[in-house]
Amino acid sequence: MVDSLEGYSYGALEQMLSSAGVNPVHAKPLFSAVQRRLVSKDLSAAEGILPPVARWLSTGNAPVLCPSKQTDCRPSGDGFTEKYMLRLADGAEVEAVRMGFSGRFTACLSTQVGCAMGCVFCATGQMGFSRHLTAGEIVAQAHHVERGLRESHGERLRNIVMMGMGEPLHNFEPVMEALGIITDNRGLNIGPARVAISTVGHIPGILKLARHPKRYSLAVSLHGASDEERGKLIPVNKKWPLAELIDACREYTVIKRARVFFAWTLIGGVNDSADHAFRLAELLKGIDAHVNLIPLNATEGYEGEASDETNVREFQGIIQASGLPSTVRQRRGIDVAAGCGQLKASRLIKW
Ligand code: SF4
Repeated sequence: MVDSLEGYSYGALEQMLSSAGVNPVHAKPLFSAVQRRLVSKDLSAAEGILPPVARWLSTGNAPVLCPSKQTDCRPSGDGFTEKYMLRLADGAEVEAVRMGFSGRFTACLSTQVGCAMGCVFCATGQMGFSRHLTAGEIVAQAHHVERGLRESHGERLRNIVMMGMGEPLHNFEPVMEALGIITDNRGLNIGPARVAISTVGHIPGILKLARHPKRYSLAVSLHGASDEERGKLIPVNKKWPLAELIDACREYTVIKRARVFFAWTLIGGVNDSADHAFRLAELLKGIDAHVNLIPLNATEGYEGEASDETNVREFQGIIQASGLPSTVRQRRGIDVAAGCGQLKASRLIKW
């Protein structure tokens, strides 16, 4: 698929201009217009775009801006979260979410249309996989959230989490290209340390990420401390079993000299007992790890429910007593279906 202008890094823009017979020095104002000022229409007339570039943009051979269109927007009652549904050029729809309070805004981005991983509790997993997103389609989501923030709050995004629809490491190259652009200090300039990539345990991707030049945060979803338990929630555990996954995470911490964040979705009566907590602590022994505990966001296609408060506290107490740092994540935005894929799922189911 031909990518949109948002998917071109500074270097790729220079190359493209050069091969079109345009002086590559024009990459600077063009990159700034697209990636920093977030011009969304009439790019030829934007500040700093000189006639040679304007002419090239109008030839029909130049890439165009991503034509994504917002088709739904839901703010949460607590004002913490706003969720957007974006329609792409081929009619596919993906979600992007803005989270946070003043001065600390985060965008949660999608990386695929649907997802091939099939986690049973996840609305996106229940939809199946349609296609990968291009780098431009991923960057355009960050632009959409940032534009809204600038208009409504006069603020900028501080953090990015690749935690929307899709498994980011299953779409490795476009995701890395997109993050390279988002973290470019000539563009949105969000530092790599402020970017988190969330995976369900895609081992080849974890090993590639360990060797990638930039150091992004890695979050790995566990949800089960044995292959049998985990396999019931995350079918790809059969392909990438727990022992190999933990080895890959250990390798990541050594190569990157960075901590891995492990996510554990707490499902009442399924994986929230004291015994589960003890086994999780044993599994992560000796790894530089932080455990994020997340009470389940219920979805219509899965019967499980969130753990109750007492179980959550007891679970966390055991994890912390073992020496592992942990945090209980609030289920913010639950009224706007802010779990991955839930807005789209609710539209598919009810509308
Ligand atoms: S939880 Fe993530 S990896 Fe699993 S199905 Fe949902 S989007 Fe895919």
